[in-house]
Amino acid sequence: MSKDHNQVWKNCLEVIKDNVSHQAFKTWFEPIQPIKIENEVLTIQVPSQFFYEWLEEHYVTLLRKTIKRELGANGRLEYSIIMENNVTNSNPYTVKVPTTNRTAVKNKAVQVPMSAHETPIKNPFIIPGLKKVNVDSNLNPNYSFEHFIEGDCNRLARSAGFAVANKPGGTAFNPLLIYGGVGLGKTHLAHAIGIEIKNKSPEKTVLYVSSEKFTHQFIDAVKNNDVNDFSHFYQMMDVLIIDDVQFFAGKEKTQDVFFHIFNHLHQTGKQIVLTSDKPPVEMQGMEQRLLSRFKWGLSADLQVPSLETRIAILEKKMYADGIELPREVVEYLAYSITTNIRELEGALISLIAQSSLNKKSITLDLAKKMIDKFVKNTAREVSIDYIQKVVCDYFDLPIELLKSKTRKREIVQARQIAMYFAKKMTKSSLANIGLHCGGKDHATVLHACRTVNNLAETDKHFRKYLEDLEKKLSIQ
Ligand code: ADP
Ligand code: MG
Repeated sequence: MSKDHNQVWKNCLEVIKDNVSHQAFKTWFEPIQPIKIENEVLTIQVPSQFFYEWLEEHYVTLLRKTIKRELGANGRLEYSIIMENNVTNSNPYTVKVPTTNRTAVKNKAVQVPMSAHETPIKNPFIIPGLKKVNVDSNLNPNYSFEHFIEGDCNRLARSAGFAVANKPGGTAFNPLLIYGGVGLGKTHLAHAIGIEIKNKSPEKTVLYVSSEKFTHQFIDAVKNNDVNDFSHFYQMMDVLIIDDVQFFAGKEKTQDVFFHIFNHLHQTGKQIVLTSDKPPVEMQGMEQRLLSRFKWGLSADLQVPSLETRIAILEKKMYADGIELPREVVEYLAYSITTNIRELEGALISLIAQSSLNKKSITLDLAKKMIDKFVKNTAREVSIDYIQKVVCDYFDLPIELLKSKTRKREIVQARQIAMYFAKKMTKSSLANIGLHCGGKDHATVLHACRTVNNLAETDKHFRKYLEDLEKKLSIQ
């Protein structure tokens, strides 16, 4: 008999609770979600990379012991991390962290993003028979309306979401499309709608799914010849919530099957909730007939929150976690991080972690130091000088040569690589990059970038250099 992951994790928490302070427990263990158990491996989901590192740094022994106690000597733990600080990719990725032999795995494993292909997706499709089936809604209870702060930035989307939640399928907002930039609360609001519906009408079948998961399930269904089951499964929903539909772009077959599911649900008065990083008019690679359906209901945007809303969000979060911070610190955080609520929360967590690590109280000074580091890290802005230094260190060349006009082969190549990264990672103009790299003009920089790209395609070793350097440049 395989064990139930929720129960196992609950048992672990009982032990952990007795071994850490109340605040540490609230901050570091309550947000963890158990995901599954397979072959004596318990997978838990943590909100960020930072979170994972913190747990590993401070609680690995405790975790290891409790896991073994629950799962036996071969018991292991794996983390699924929700990506942060990365604008283009919000997939969770999994790092395998065995409860033994930790050092050998730690640093290496963290860098392996998990493509959704590797997620074992079981065939979840049940052919609807006469009886109602129980579908796991995939909703995160933390993402409720109660935890969602209202502000001018989200008023329309929030109230439309609330209206939909009160009368799924029965308002003009069908589909409800929530759109907005990264970290502004699309996923949170989408979950909130689902949670509210489930609270009010537990008998309704509600499903939250990311567009990527939907796509991969579909691909699997095609492989296994059960596209019909797949479609039936989705057509059975009373409320279907699909997150980040922009990822359907360019995937014609997926769009096609979704189109039919959409029509079926819409015609039978079922509610559809979608999120996207842009409004329908700006979506590219999407079939016209699908776009026109997206526009049937209401498209509501989430904007960047005002200072007051940012402060309110921080306060709510602190309250939920049982943390108190001086007002000036909260204001400083809210002043410094303006465009992404996920980063704002990340900064708060880092600050708490810093202070508990160094046993210092959280002062404005500590906040300033931390923000300097944090904001720099998340923005990933590096200077041309820094790139040159990293490249020269890597190839063991004196930096003056790189900046000089010399045409020695290995210098030329290092210089081209520096130009390539400068173009990729800074906002400098081509002319400015050229100026920094031996007084070249913009055409030379363009040529350098092309050369580097060509070499990267054809030369394995060269590609390795670039990958190494890219890693070094990303971790400041
Ligand atoms: P998106 O899906 O738009 O990238 P998320 O929904 O994942 O953004 O939100 C990022 C983080 O910010 C989440 O932890 C979420 O709980 C929090 N958040 C976003 N908007 C709000 C809000 N209005 N009130 C409270 N927390 C919020
Ligand atoms: Mg999201």
